[in-house]
Amino acid sequence: MINLILFGPPGSGKGTQAAKLVEQYALLHISTGDLFRYEMSNDTPLGQEAKSYIAKGELVPDEVTIGMLRNKVEANPDVRGYIFDGFPRTIAQSEALDALLAEKEGEVSKLIMLDVPDDEIVARILNRGKTSGRTDDLDEDIVRNRIQIYKNETSQVFDFYAIKEKSIKIDGVGSVEEIFNRLCDEIDNL
Ligand code: UDP
Ligand code: MG
Repeated sequence: MINLILFGPPGSGKGTQAAKLVEQYALLHISTGDLFRYEMSNDTPLGQEAKSYIAKGELVPDEVTIGMLRNKVEANPDVRGYIFDGFPRTIAQSEALDALLAEKEGEVSKLIMLDVPDDEIVARILNRGKTSGRTDDLDEDIVRNRIQIYKNETSQVFDFYAIKEKSIKIDGVGSVEEIFNRLCDEIDNL
């Protein structure tokens, strides 16, 4: 199996690049953010629970997110591997992911971080907010809160996999095609 974690701050281009990587490598793309938005648009109990956190730019509690992720993985057992986008966001989520993949006799192959400076991220997200329909993209305070949570909690996930010599960082500024090529260079070297 090839199991990639596409990592980086909000607005770093994970979703855009994951869509292209899926075509190239035939992996299943799992975006926990997209899964939450699907649940919210269908007004399910899970969506209702997630909504209050997402509206403020906070993290949905780990046990909720981990349960949802597990369901998605278990519903798609016969894949070559997964691209995790927006997950794991905490150390507890990282441990849960490792345990889940170990059950399938797999492991995280690589965590690739898209490195993008703060100012660029805020500009990208506010711009995306004009068309994304995401209210958490429209308010600069909420966007800054998401970035702060990324720095306080999520960035530790990079270190968690760095100890296992699995984390790498690539420059996330450039054209979509340039960044895609940087990602492919890393994946082809796995
Ligand atoms: N979220 C979360 N856990 C996840 C994924 C998403 O709590 O594993 C919530 C969180 O509130 C986040 C929002 O959903 O700010 C949007 O997440 P997404 O990954 O889509 O946005 P991104 O940060 O990539 O712009
Ligand atoms: Mg995303």
